[in-house]
Amino acid sequence: MSGCIFCRIASKEVPSTIVWEDERAVAFRDANPKAPLHVLVVPRQHIVDLRAAAEEDEPLLGHLMWVAAQVAKQEGVSETGFRVVVNAGPNAGQSVDHLHVHLLGGRALGWPPG
Ligand code: 5GP
Ligand code: ZN
Repeated sequence: MSGCIFCRIASKEVPSTIVWEDERAVAFRDANPKAPLHVLVVPRQHIVDLRAAAEEDEPLLGHLMWVAAQVAKQEGVSETGFRVVVNAGPNAGQSVDHLHVHLLGGRALGWPPG
């Protein structure tokens, strides 16, 4: 998807601060961080959102969660704890139509989210 900002970040056509990359996923710092650590984990494959994920994507979805946990360790927030969030659709405020897992940490996070 050549017009998709996260596809372009994953292919390094658009610069970002990448903190993890492998054959299936890329993680980079959010441009407008909501916590001291705010990283987005995205699949290289263009999937619009969680609702669009196919049954065959299930291992990839698990991989994104595993990557989030690895980045949390790497970034030093694993012991204090962190949150992963996936927004899907308008009521969740999804603003980029490429599946992404938010990894938030480095401060106490309120619950429930707004
Ligand atoms: P959503 O609201 O769709 O769940 O989250 C989209 C996130 O992507 C937001 O937190 C926003 O700050 C981040 N974002 C949007 N455009 C860019 C960009 O070009 N670069 C980076 N690093 N983050 C972006
Ligand atoms: Zn995309």
